[in-house]
Amino acid sequence: MYEGQLFVVSGPSGAGKGTICRMLIDQVKVSLSVSMTTRTPRAGEINGENYYFITRKKFESIVESEGFLEYAEVYGNYYGTPKQTVLDLLKEGEDVILEIDIQGALKIKEQYPEGIFIYILPPSMGELRKRLTRRGSETEDVINQRIKETLTEVSYIDKYDYCVVNGELNEAVTRIKAIITAEHSRVSHDVYELIDKYREEM
Ligand code: 5GP
Repeated sequence: MYEGQLFVVSGPSGAGKGTICRMLIDQVKVSLSVSMTTRTPRAGEINGENYYFITRKKFESIVESEGFLEYAEVYGNYYGTPKQTVLDLLKEGEDVILEIDIQGALKIKEQYPEGIFIYILPPSMGELRKRLTRRGSETEDVINQRIKETLTEVSYIDKYDYCVVNGELNEAVTRIKAIITAEHSRVSHDVYELIDKYREEM
């Protein structure tokens, strides 16, 4: 039984998951898992902060030693969640956010159904295209491919517990904070401990 809560955040490329998660860790006591990837860093990305950028060979050896909680191939590159770090944080009672794609989220759901699955949506396809273009890191072809895949990806939304439309960034972050607060207010074993304490006090 883990003490911390696992939150899984997914959504189409360009929906704003990364920005939202970075804002969340500044505002809430939660750790963001840093994934490993075989893709090359984008301008401004820092190894160990955005991702651990590793070779395919290294990635494969971690897969072999079962060092990933989940991994997936996304747009031709491998991405994986380091297992031990996440499990240690949860055991210590820390909440952890995984910002991962839908294939990865479904794998986590099989192993860890008590996780909370949040889907971030763009307000429109036009806005999604604008955001991907503004990012400037993908070619027109890649942007078109990602936009096309969005419609397939959103068909998995029923596997998630919550969805948040990221029209206005602060509003989306506020909603996710509300989800975290609500999940911490569930009737859990902690409340029974509190009720036992009431009895002792009487
Ligand atoms: P990007 O290359 O744009 O940073 O990420 C591409 C996709 O990979 C995004 O949907 C992102 O959420 C996903 N991703 C990042 N890290 C992981 C991971 O550890 N596992 C999985 N399955 N997907 C990931």
